[in-house]
Amino acid sequence: MKDENYLKANNARSLWHPMTAPSDSLNNPPTIITGASGTRIRDVDGHEVVDGVGGLWNVNLGYSCQPVKDAIAAQLDRLPYYSIFRGTSNDCVIELAEELRAFFEPDGLTRAFFTSGGSDSVETALRLARQYHKIRGEAGRTKFLSLKKGYHGTHIGGASVNGNANFRTQYEPLLPGCFHIPAPYTYRNPFNESDPERLAQLCLQALEDEIAFQGAGTIAAFIMEPVLGAGGVIVPHPSFMPGVAALCRKNGILLIADEVITAFGRTGAWSGSRLWGVQPDFMCTAKAITNGYFPFGAVMIAESVAQVFETDESGRAAIGHGYTYSGHPVGAAAALACLAETKRLNVIDNATARGAQLFDGLMRLKDKHDVIGDVRGGKGLMLAVELVGDRASKSAPPKAQPGQVQAVAYQQGAMVRVSGPNVILSPPLVLTAEDATVILSALDAGFAAL
Ligand code: PMP
Repeated sequence: MKDENYLKANNARSLWHPMTAPSDSLNNPPTIITGASGTRIRDVDGHEVVDGVGGLWNVNLGYSCQPVKDAIAAQLDRLPYYSIFRGTSNDCVIELAEELRAFFEPDGLTRAFFTSGGSDSVETALRLARQYHKIRGEAGRTKFLSLKKGYHGTHIGGASVNGNANFRTQYEPLLPGCFHIPAPYTYRNPFNESDPERLAQLCLQALEDEIAFQGAGTIAAFIMEPVLGAGGVIVPHPSFMPGVAALCRKNGILLIADEVITAFGRTGAWSGSRLWGVQPDFMCTAKAITNGYFPFGAVMIAESVAQVFETDESGRAAIGHGYTYSGHPVGAAAALACLAETKRLNVIDNATARGAQLFDGLMRLKDKHDVIGDVRGGKGLMLAVELVGDRASKSAPPKAQPGQVQAVAYQQGAMVRVSGPNVILSPPLVLTAEDATVILSALDAGFAAL
């Protein structure tokens, strides 16, 4: 490894960071992470902290997963790569598809299409949704509906259904035919409704109105995160996603669950769809599927959708889509080992217990610190604290404040993430009670510093 001075001097010289202005990297040098074990990460200065972010919502099992490392090493030796395009397959990917089918069978999902990550998975689902309708002779169903505040990755299709201006404005024009409805975001919403159940009904009404306005026969799919992540951990009322699913079914619209964050236990259920009792037509996964050990993703496909493709006689079912790394054998080996570990550790129990501990702790911090406007989460290990300038008016906090909380919390032993006015937590699902205490006291110091 190059020494500390080299790394600090050269970080911004030849490297552009995602989601960062290049000038920011020069003016505010990032923390350079050089090691990790268990639930902790270590920086170039030797400072070690609890990783309250879990990599980027993906390191569910922590950083010391020996079975995954062994599986990757063995697979690198045996077959480092072969494509699964027309005419070839590999042993690992076949086994993984079978394992995922068993894992997601309660969600009604029985086929897998592999990708290199979350944005790829979203793009795949959007494209296959349009193709599904074309196979069935409904070529006019091309539009997509989604939620404001939703995040669906950064490819052009995904950015088009994204509901956050930051990821759109500089890249327009995006895909035509994408429309957004209000998210069931209780703290701030256009209806001024503070009751989550009534808000869910209002958002469902907005969806129904939009379907009628666009014409159901023009809409291919509705895409949503069961719990909105990057948009600030927005947990819908339990009636919301089932209501969406019912409207979709009634109108022949496919439901795409974007579970890039929520699949594999993050919400305390094995999938976000299962949390709400919904069976989607497509489920986008990535992130925890390989726990950060390998870039990988999978779109899971409902049996009913699979049947349409598999019994097609129109000649329209050839999938003209796929990635060089679709079904990468090393990724598949990593995913198999992660899935086995995820099940062996039954991570949903700890996600639920530690999620409750963090949520209660954050609510106590809200009593103590006026800068906290809202605390969200309470379903597994996805939580957010929304900072405000003034509680009564819910005015935005000074721009620098979330970053100040992050910096102080880091010095006090915990890495947290900031996104707009939100401080976000998505730690490994193997977090200990002691780790959670460290995160809470680090945040306490962070809020106090404002
Ligand atoms: N969908 C959701 C819900 C996500 O949270 C993300 C990533 N945070 C993506 C899609 C995109 O995934 P990736 O960054 O792996 O392309």
